[in-house]
Amino acid sequence: MAEKVIIIGSGPAGLTAAIYLARASLNPLCIEGFISGGVAGGQLMITTEIENFPGFPEAISGPELMERMKNQAMKFGTRFVSEDVIECDLSKDPFLLRTASSTFQTETVIVATGATAKRLNLPSHEKFWNRGISACAVCDGGLPIFRNQVLAVVGGGDTAMEESLYLTHFASKVILIHRRDEFRASKAMQKKVLNNPKIKILYNTIIEDAIGDKSLSGLKIKNLKSGETKEIEVKGLFYAIGHKPNTDFLKGQIEIDDEGYIITKGRTMTSVEGVFACGDVQDKIYRQAVTAAGSGCMAGVDCERYLSGKNS
Ligand SMILES: Cc1cc2nc3c(=O)[nH]c(=O)nc-3n(C[C@H](O)[C@H](O)[C@H](O)COP(=O)(O)OP(=O)(O)OC[C@H]3O[C@@H](n4cnc5c(N)ncnc54)[C@H](O)[C@@H]3O)c2cc1C
Repeated sequence: MAEKVIIIGSGPAGLTAAIYLARASLNPLCIEGFISGGVAGGQLMITTEIENFPGFPEAISGPELMERMKNQAMKFGTRFVSEDVIECDLSKDPFLLRTASSTFQTETVIVATGATAKRLNLPSHEKFWNRGISACAVCDGGLPIFRNQVLAVVGGGDTAMEESLYLTHFASKVILIHRRDEFRASKAMQKKVLNNPKIKILYNTIIEDAIGDKSLSGLKIKNLKSGETKEIEVKGLFYAIGHKPNTDFLKGQIEIDDEGYIITKGRTMTSVEGVFACGDVQDKIYRQAVTAAGSGCMAGVDCERYLSGKNS
């Protein structure tokens, strides 16, 4: 028998949608993800302190926040399957979703599969991840370890400009490292960065490795024009080299943009009636847990109203 609704993904967006749909007695099934787009629970499972999610003035760890959201979704009756969706057919009624072990039929789908932040392949990446290396300046820049320190940002697009400017509020200095001799960011953003006295730019430069004892204390960098390598002192490194939306399994099924983000129309509706999208998989601007949760709520409400309209 077909499910009424399947939610794909169990980050803040998917679990918030699950809470709303379960409380509306729609008995949702959540295919929570396993490996292809990150672990079940989503991006917050790989972060330590969350200081900006409302309701937690003392901060909360990412895994604990996600465990609480999952428990809340389960309390109202959400069921979970620990797999990835690897293929789907959204031209069928009911829709078909395939995982490695099963095929599911469902009247509606909520896609909440997030976007994975790209990382540099540094030899010491694992050692310093969450100990000085981050992929989100807006999330982590204000943490005590980064305040009044020299911080580095790597990238050359609008995100790298935005993150560098944001970090100037906390850092003593920001070093923006870019491998080419010009940025691809918009001229307006570049101007703001170039005019900010706290930002120093290193063009034609790559990072070869991160260095430090228990936490990051510097970077080994190489100038691609001169071939010169040297070490610089920084207490933080922020990757701003883009995100990859987890939409491979949707190719050809639904409208997505050039970068792979799902295009939502108006609210959370997609190009296929009965398929909704929420969270980072359709948001390249805010990319925060609270905005993902907010759009998960919207998708849950939109889906519930769609099903009531259909059945009446
Ligand atoms: C290092 C780091 C620190 C951060 N810190 C903060 C912070 O302090 N505060 C803040 O507000 N935000 C923070 N963020 C951003 C925040 O994590 C995201 O905005 C938020 O998690 C997006 O939620 P989401 O539900 O859209 O997607 P995600 O959290 O990415 O969840 C996606 C879900 O989809 C699943 N999935 C993917 N592909 C498939 C598939 N094919 N089949 C089934 N499931 C699939 C994954 O397993 C996962 O469960 C941070 C991000 C990073 C990377």
